[in-house]
Amino acid sequence: MKSEPMMNYTDLSTPDSFRFVFRCDRCGAGVPSERYLFSTKEFLEPLHEDVRALLWTRQHDEAYERASGEAPTDFNRCPVCGRRVCDECFALSPEVAEVGTDMCVDCKKLWETVVQTAGHRFGGAAGKG
Ligand SMILES: [Zn+2]
Ligand SMILES: [Zn+2]
Repeated sequence: MKSEPMMNYTDLSTPDSFRFVFRCDRCGAGVPSERYLFSTKEFLEPLHEDVRALLWTRQHDEAYERASGEAPTDFNRCPVCGRRVCDECFALSPEVAEVGTDMCVDCKKLWETVVQTAGHRFGGAAGKG
């Protein structure tokens, strides 16, 4: 098992199907997963309610595993703060390449502030006319 932190998500599962909406940690934009159907067709007998509930819980867990395994492809993991953010919240601009990694826009802002502060301190302003 990977020890990825749990993503933000909304559970849209119903008694008949499973679906999850995974959310950007920054802006909350949602990406819905596939819809997985609850299936009891391998059982010929009508199921007792408790058995059905158990099966539902099991299939729900499996559906979540699958959905959460696919969801990260829609999100970017910020290596600085560890949040999973949508493309809108992820800085892929060329200047970020200078630090050797991409990061979320919040961390990028912070980084830019640090760089600007450092730039002033190390006297970059002179020489331009
Ligand atoms: Zn976002
Ligand atoms: Zn970040």
